[in-house]
Amino acid sequence: MRASKLYAPTLREVPAEADIVSHQLLMRAGYIRKAAGGIYSYLPLALRVLRKIEAIVREEMNAEDAQEVLMPITQPAEIWQESGRWDVYGDEMWRLSDRHGRMFCLGPTHEEMITTLVKMDVRSYRQLPLNLFQIQNKYRDEIRPRFGVIRGREFIMKDAYSFDKDVAGLAINYQKMFDAYTKIFSRCGLNFRPVEADSGAIGGSGSHEFMALCETGEGGVVFCKQCSYAANDEKAELAVIVMPVETELALQIVDTPNVKTIAEVAEFLNVENCRLIKSVAYHTETGPVLVLIRGDHQVNDIKLKNSLGCLNLDMATERAIVEDMHSISGFIGPIGLKAVKIVADSSVMNMYNAVTGANATDKHYVNVNPKRDFKADIVTDIRLIKANDPCPRCGEPVEYARGIEVGQVFKLGTKYSQVLDATYLDEAGKAKPMVMGCYGIGVSRTMAAVIEQCHDSNGIIWPVSIAPYQTVVVPISAKDAEQMTIAERIYKTLSDNGIETVLDDRNERPGVKFKDADLIGYPLKITVGGKAINEGLLEVKERKNGEVHFIAVENFIDDIRKLLG
Ligand code: ATP
Ligand code: MG
Repeated sequence: MRASKLYAPTLREVPAEADIVSHQLLMRAGYIRKAAGGIYSYLPLALRVLRKIEAIVREEMNAEDAQEVLMPITQPAEIWQESGRWDVYGDEMWRLSDRHGRMFCLGPTHEEMITTLVKMDVRSYRQLPLNLFQIQNKYRDEIRPRFGVIRGREFIMKDAYSFDKDVAGLAINYQKMFDAYTKIFSRCGLNFRPVEADSGAIGGSGSHEFMALCETGEGGVVFCKQCSYAANDEKAELAVIVMPVETELALQIVDTPNVKTIAEVAEFLNVENCRLIKSVAYHTETGPVLVLIRGDHQVNDIKLKNSLGCLNLDMATERAIVEDMHSISGFIGPIGLKAVKIVADSSVMNMYNAVTGANATDKHYVNVNPKRDFKADIVTDIRLIKANDPCPRCGEPVEYARGIEVGQVFKLGTKYSQVLDATYLDEAGKAKPMVMGCYGIGVSRTMAAVIEQCHDSNGIIWPVSIAPYQTVVVPISAKDAEQMTIAERIYKTLSDNGIETVLDDRNERPGVKFKDADLIGYPLKITVGGKAINEGLLEVKERKNGEVHFIAVENFIDDIRKLLG
């Protein structure tokens, strides 16, 4: 490809909304352009990267006996109604109707579709195991599309679905997909970790997320250096904290004028945060809920949702706190609160002489002894793990990191096969539900995650495996006929040898060409200048470490191959 023809319009100014580096660089270097919030066009360079990631995904899927299919994006409402998810999926699902008023959705995922497909033709245990995958656009009307293609509303996903006779078969397929994912993300050059995950709304009995570690990640992960434990912070269980026993003092109301937040209360009463009971009011589809957690802890929304069995969890408004809970924002607490479900973190129930709101303006209770002073409807672990909390397995302090979820694998079991009636006949001729797994990779998100990890102040640093082109040939002066002749020859030889190359034939200053080469992120930059003419030497610079090599023009291909690894 000649740079003079390449459609990679670079930008000097990055749109203000691009607040993380991958989004900025994808815009600046001419990889993507926005069509609407969370919806992007991929320009030629991005498409080449995506195709390379897809090729890696295909190879590793095929190697584990998964076969590629392509299902429709447009899915009839009926199959989602049958599974019960038409109502559950909520506003994230993109719904549309045809001219006859029949309802459809744009597939956010394909469990219903694949189960319906497979049950048409799979009848016998002899046809199992089966693993089918596709690479396709998915649609999720995300509440907060952001970070460019990391959280899009239209994005590319690889989704695979396995069907087995029994859980032992599922365990094998799950492990095969786990291993394939490990290979895929390693080959893409990512620094990642598989972590235990919550199986969430999709249901099922076990799950791992593959997290690309980086500061800008939306997900939190904890891992233990001592044992092998690693989990999404939403999933990590926590041991109950046992506090030293204290004499229970008499409950007392104190004035706390305009003192509302945990920090304000702690300062005003001169106590540590861990002696306060934080009361957080929520609204759910089954009514108001008050959640109690120690003042120095955070609520884990996923655990809370799981313990309540609810789908929607929103912070209660100030008005709802007054009207539904008969309390007042900033001074809410469990004592005397009526008609509100109370969920307490297990550690709260072990506190002594604590502080809570008194459900009256400018009042708090002190000397609250939970077991004595109020009753919680649910007492369970609803706390979010943080750095240095004890590892749930071995008790050593855990480390905390942030990550981007690039893939997830789930053991679904019979959740979908049962409701959608996908059965097979076993050896004894008995009908049994197929045992399923599902496995997703965010292809477009992976591209951005790699950039989050592989860049410097000058631009992207692509790993060779997924770079849009592996090398760029830069003649110092496009006007110098001798340089151009050598550059053309180098370009042709590289291309003939299957090394994807851009020839920067533009009549630009060398500084401009070098800047663009760094921004776009070619792994190798081959400069053709005076040295090539006078000494027969090419200057080859590695993007990843800035190392410069001078290699002889004659037989340079082997050296380039070596540098590409
Ligand atoms: P998240 O928690 O980030 O919303 P998810 O758990 O809902 O993602 P899955 O249903 O597990 O996503 O989808 C499989 C993969 O698809 C994810 O691991 C992720 O890499 C990718 N993905 C999910 N949502 C998006 C999105 N809005 N934009 C880009 N990629 C996405
Ligand atoms: Mg996920």
